[in-house]
Amino acid sequence: MGSHEAELRAGLEAVRAAARVCRAVQQRLVTAETLEKKDKSPVTVADFASQAIVCQRLEAAFPNDPLVGEEGSAELRDGGQVDLRDAVVREVAAEVAGAPSAPAVLDWIDRGSAAGDTARYWTLDPIDGTKGFLRGEQYAVALGLLEDTRVKVGLLGCPNLPDGAGGQGALFAAVRGGGARAYSLWDESDQTGREIHVSDITDPAGARFCESVESGHSNQEEAAEIARQLGIAQEPFRIDSQCKYASVARADASIYLRMPTRADYREKIWDHAGGMIVVEEAGGRVTDVNGNDLDFSHGRTLDRNRGIVATCGPIHDRVIEVVRAVRGA
Ligand code: AMP
Ligand code: MG
Repeated sequence: MGSHEAELRAGLEAVRAAARVCRAVQQRLVTAETLEKKDKSPVTVADFASQAIVCQRLEAAFPNDPLVGEEGSAELRDGGQVDLRDAVVREVAAEVAGAPSAPAVLDWIDRGSAAGDTARYWTLDPIDGTKGFLRGEQYAVALGLLEDTRVKVGLLGCPNLPDGAGGQGALFAAVRGGGARAYSLWDESDQTGREIHVSDITDPAGARFCESVESGHSNQEEAAEIARQLGIAQEPFRIDSQCKYASVARADASIYLRMPTRADYREKIWDHAGGMIVVEEAGGRVTDVNGNDLDFSHGRTLDRNRGIVATCGPIHDRVIEVVRAVRGA
C-alpha cells in the first residue's frame, strides 16, 4: 500500500474502538421506549463518545493533525448537561485506559473543531446515520484523511451491516492508489482484510440503486423517475448512512443517488470523504448530480457541489445524463 500505512493502521484502530462503543450503546440504550418517544439521547451519548475516542486515538498517533468533526462539546461544558456529560465519560472509559477525566474527554471532542483550512486534516462523522442508529438500524463511523484537498485515506465502520458470512459488522478502508479492502470490524488481529470490488455490470437497467431512508435527505421521487428512465425495475435499496457507499463498493448495489431536496443545502465533508474513496478505490466513480468531481477545497462543506451520484463506473456517464435530464425537466 505504499505510503499512508501508519494512517491506515491508526484509522483502523480508532474506528474499531468507536464502533465497539456505538454498538454497546445502541444495544443497551435503544429500546422500544426510546423508539416510541423519539428519544434522541442514546445517539447523543454515542455520538460524543465516538468522536472523543477517535480524536484520542488520532492525537496519540498524529499529535499535530487537526480534525474536522461533526460534534463540538459546547452543550456538555459549564452549565450544560451534566448527566449527559457523565454518560459520555463513562462510555469513553470503556476504550481509554486510566479512567479519563471529564475535562480530558471534552478536550478530545474539541480536537474535532478544526475548520478544514489546513493542508492536512482528518474529517469524522462519529455516527453517520443518527436516524438509523435510533431505529436500531444502519449507521457508520466515517473517517477520512485529506491532504492538499484530496482524500487520501478513508474508513467506514458499519456495526450493523451484514459481514457476508452470517455475522454483523463490517469495516471498509481505502488508501489512494492502494485499492479498497473489507476487514473484520470486531477482530483486531485482521490487519490485511480482503480486496473488494464494485459490480461489473455495464447496463444500467440491471443496476440496483440505493438511497437514503430519510426522504428529507434525498429526493426519492426524483430518484424513482431516474431509475425508471434508466430501465431499472428493482425497488430502491434504502439504507442509512455511508453504508450506501459501502454497498456500492462491495457490489451489493451499483448506484447511490443522493438527490438534493433543497437548493441551499450543502453536503458536509464528513458525510462523503470516507465513503467516496472507498468506492473509487473499489473501482467505482463518485461525482455530484451534475457530474462534477467532489471539491474538498471549501472547508467543512462541499460548497460547489450538489447532491451525490456514486456508481460502479462504466454506467456513470449514462446515469449522469439521465440525472441531468430529469433535474432539468
Ligand atoms: P443518510 O443517512 O444518507 O440519510 O444521511 C445522513 C446525513 O444527512 C446526516 O449526516 C446529515 O448530515 C445529512 N443531511 C441532513 N439534512 C440533509 C439534507 N437536507 N440533504 C442532504 N443531507 C442532509
Ligand atoms: Mg452524517
